[in-house]
Amino acid sequence: MSEYPDNWKELTYQLKEKNNWKCSKCGIQCIKPGAQGNKQLTKSERSKLTLQAHHSDYNVSNNRPENLRILCSACHLGYHCGRRTNIHPNQLCLDLKL
Ligand SMILES: [Zn+2]
Ligand SMILES: [Zn+2]
Repeated sequence: MSEYPDNWKELTYQLKEKNNWKCSKCGIQCIKPGAQGNKQLTKSERSKLTLQAHHSDYNVSNNRPENLRILCSACHLGYHCGRRTNIHPNQLCLDLKL
């Protein structure tokens, strides 16, 4: 069971596109899937530079664009580290598995 909408990928892709593939917190330039040059990066570099969508109110069923923040993986983890939640991180952050 997932609360993510069918168009989740599309939705977040559009938001990332709007952000020019930059983290909205630290501004780091992240990679666009399928872009030239991705192959030169190691797997860990790639996962570090992969943008993720974060729910500002920590409510995964609130998928309105204004509730979603585009973050790099480091910033995203920062939002969740130390926060007590009964939602499993894998469920909360689907993008981490991409
Ligand atoms: Zn960041
Ligand atoms: Zn998150």
